Amino acid sequence: MTEAMHQVLIVEDDPALQSVLRTFFEANGYRVVAAPIALGGIRDARLYNPDVVIVDLGLPDRDGIEVIKGIRTWSAMPIVVLSARTAEPQRLLAFDSGADDYVVKPFSAPELLARVRAVSRRHVRGNLPMAILRLGGISVDLTARTTRTADGHEVRLTPLEYRILAVLARHSESIVTQATLLKDVWGPDRDDSGSLRVYIASLRRKLEVNPSRPKHIITELGLGYRLLLDQEAEIDDSIE
Ligand code: CA
Repeated sequence: MTEAMHQVLIVEDDPALQSVLRTFFEANGYRVVAAPIALGGIRDARLYNPDVVIVDLGLPDRDGIEVIKGIRTWSAMPIVVLSARTAEPQRLLAFDSGADDYVVKPFSAPELLARVRAVSRRHVRGNLPMAILRLGGISVDLTARTTRTADGHEVRLTPLEYRILAVLARHSESIVTQATLLKDVWGPDRDDSGSLRVYIASLRRKLEVNPSRPKHIITELGLGYRLLLDQEAEIDDSIE
């Protein structure tokens, strides 16, 4: 069974917290590697190629952001930030540097575990083509660019709306920042967050039962958007 165990790398300088995390993740079937400094974290990520990395931002030698950037030069492994920094610009910087999720200290260990499992799941699935999205009974075929309700009625989406959904779907369950959406949908030189909002509103009108209380295309205030598919909720309780 050892081979099948998931490995988590924890980059955290607080020895007490590191010990709590180690015990908790080991109790939940993970092999744990821990590094107390940023450079050690970057090295251990290469050495162990873990299934997921948890990284603190306030580290003694370098900022945790450097760990994220260092890993992202060569790997797409899931990275979850665990930090006491709550300010929006700090969180944005972490996401734009390549973090997959962000948990604020003080945190609940079960919630951290749930986030770690979610990013791991998306990472594994990221290697598979995900052509059909299921959103509350509506099926969106990203390849054929057709969308149907549960009773077979066609919903018309524009090519741009399909592209926005495709970008959100590549990162489903995780926050996609406005900057990433704008770059991936419109290209690097556009900064048109106003029209992004318009398209998101239009997608919600077409895909959400109640567009003003969206269940699938979620706004993460000041950060961006998160796409929640039907299956995520179902898998959540059953996996591992
Ligand atoms: Ca710290």
